[in-house]
Amino acid sequence: MQHRSTSHLDFPDASCVDCGNRYLRRIPGRGFLQNKVLAFLGFFPWECPICRQVGYFRKQGGDGGQG
Ligand SMILES: [Zn+2]
Repeated sequence: MQHRSTSHLDFPDASCVDCGNRYLRRIPGRGFLQNKVLAFLGFFPWECPICRQVGYFRKQGGDGGQG
C-alpha cells in the first residue's frame, strides 16, 4: 500500500484556504495572542485580498530575508 505524506493542513507555502490564492498579504496581529503567542509558535496571520480569509502560516514574510 502506498502512503502519501501530503496533508491537507500541511501547506508548502502560504495560500488561501478558501480560494487557493497564493498572493496573500501579511496583516498585523491583533492583541497579545496573535502578536506574541502565535509569533512565538512561528505562525503569522495572512489575509487573502480576494475573499478576506485569514489564515495562519509558518511564514513571516515582509522583509524577504534569506533562508
Ligand atoms: Zn481567498
